[in-house]
Amino acid sequence: MALTLKSALEADAADPLAPLRERFGIPRTAQGGRCIYLCGHSLGLMPLAARAEIAQELDDWEHLAVLGHEHARRPWIPYHDALAGHVAQLLGCRADEVAVMNSLTVNLQLMLASFYRPEGGRRAILIEAGAFPSDRYAVTTHLQWRGLDPRECLIELAPREGEDLIGETDLEAVLERRGEQIALVLWPGVQYLTGQVFDLVRIERAAHAAGALVGFDLAHSVGNMPFPLRDSAADFAVWCSYKYLNAGPGAIGGCFVHRRHFDPARPRLAGWWGHEHATRFDMPREFRPASGAAGFQLSNQSVLAAAPLIASLELFREAGMRRLREKSVALTAFLDQLIAERTPQVRSITPRATAARGAQLSLRLNGGPERGRRVFQWLAAHGTICDWREPDIIRAAPVPLYNGFEDVFNFVVRLEEALRSND
Ligand SMILES: *Cc1c(COP(=O)(O)O)cnc(C)c1O
Repeated sequence: MALTLKSALEADAADPLAPLRERFGIPRTAQGGRCIYLCGHSLGLMPLAARAEIAQELDDWEHLAVLGHEHARRPWIPYHDALAGHVAQLLGCRADEVAVMNSLTVNLQLMLASFYRPEGGRRAILIEAGAFPSDRYAVTTHLQWRGLDPRECLIELAPREGEDLIGETDLEAVLERRGEQIALVLWPGVQYLTGQVFDLVRIERAAHAAGALVGFDLAHSVGNMPFPLRDSAADFAVWCSYKYLNAGPGAIGGCFVHRRHFDPARPRLAGWWGHEHATRFDMPREFRPASGAAGFQLSNQSVLAAAPLIASLELFREAGMRRLREKSVALTAFLDQLIAERTPQVRSITPRATAARGAQLSLRLNGGPERGRRVFQWLAAHGTICDWREPDIIRAAPVPLYNGFEDVFNFVVRLEEALRSND
């Protein structure tokens, strides 16, 4: 498409998903206009229907109190079941492989407790050198808590000298070279800083061929990439729901456990909500896990933190993940091309290939981190919401549920102004 405002407006007019935008809250500037919001990779916008979903739970709590467990409009005891089914559809896995619970890092610790089984010479965990801090903290402290030394048991794979991205080939090479030492590979579906999408099938196969287990962090994949778990036989995965899933700050997250690990003897850190459902309320002394990912739950459902997710999942169902991805590919390509043409001082470090990126582009500016930070601050002061990640990256993600081509065009115009004002 032509790189003009006219063609952006035409693309929005022809887009069957465009009306969904009106079903989200969009922040406004001090002057009252709508902000340009390209920050759904960090916190998704609020689906307006979330308010009614939460209000419903408050009403049921007010009027039914404890009886709400069985008689709320959405009874609280089985609250989890419908959510797990819908999230499983987005991931491309079975409903009984999903538990919607806790937050991402908590789920990661729980999965490490179950799936990191160091034995003999096979004790290392392989992660990426630039992993999201929480994931690195989880893994290092998990090792220490087991009395193991991260300097010995943590392998961090860095990009090649002078590069930003890690090739799957390099990952395969480490697994071939040091596979016998590696107990677990923990890898992101989409890298949070660079926006790089990894080939999860390839990584899963290489890890399993080396005799390691493999877990994926899907924080930036779920709701962004279609069906990230469809063809992969990952052992586990974890995610949060407040980024592309728009379920609100600190919303309930989730985890995936592959069906081959449903064996009740699988070690775990248990709680009563993971007990076999039929006898859970008999208050038995011995823990007998529910079958499936549900057997990894600890506590009864955080209904108020899960209610907004229902509103958001409804929008995903209406839009359809395939149509969303199609639009996402076009939006991000439009952003990439506009930046290449209009702001040559800005370079996207995100891969160019469609299959290797989702919604997000990660932008690095000529002139060093100081100038980058000034440009970012100028954008923020002018109603343009994206984010800054140390040391020198502006992340911007047009989200197909609520961003349009006009947003993308206006963003690049603002970026041009920001660069001019901060020469
Ligand atoms: C957003 C994100 C998290 C956040 O963890 P919480 O426990 O939900 O606060 C963790 N890991 C990655 C890779 C993320 O992108």
